[in-house]
Amino acid sequence: MIKGIVRRVGRVGRVRRVGGLEPPKSYYSHVCSVAGKKAGLISEEEMTSQWDRILDVWQDRWDSSDKGQWTYSLLPDIRRRLDLPLEVDHYVCQFLTGHGDFNAKLESFALRGTGMCRCETEDETVDHVLYRCRLLSAERAPVIRLIGEDAWPCPTKVFLDTWSNYRAQRRFARVAIKAKRSSDRLGL
Ligand SMILES: [Zn+2]
Repeated sequence: MIKGIVRRVGRVGRVRRVGGLEPPKSYYSHVCSVAGKKAGLISEEEMTSQWDRILDVWQDRWDSSDKGQWTYSLLPDIRRRLDLPLEVDHYVCQFLTGHGDFNAKLESFALRGTGMCRCETEDETVDHVLYRCRLLSAERAPVIRLIGEDAWPCPTKVFLDTWSNYRAQRRFARVAIKAKRSSDRLGL
């Protein structure tokens, strides 16, 4: 898996079947538990085969779940997610999950009196902030330039198609949330 990551230069990752690939070390104990074997008593072949089976079950559950629909739109494929060496910080995490400093989300937890964005056009959701909020037009412009005006608004998965797209989205996440916090502080 690590070699696969190093080999890719231009793209963040391509969807591929991971049959024959070992699980990351952090999943070893889980694979052994599913196989009913103690660590060290499982063959490499069985480890690989059990891991592939686990990924199939995981994918089925992810496909049929009604949770995390926003994240699903970005990362529908479990194998691909595991293959992506994403650097997830405090800001980009909020954009990948849709859970964060967004008024509509805060309102759903009774932490904000209204879900309306400060631009007063619609609720402040992650997709409003990412695609439409006019108060962030300048910050969004580099992302649109990179992805291409003709392709905008792009499907969400495009943000993870290439390293440059991902980095641009990560930069946008940081400035968007900082701008929100500073306007909240000023009571705007
Ligand atoms: Zn707005």
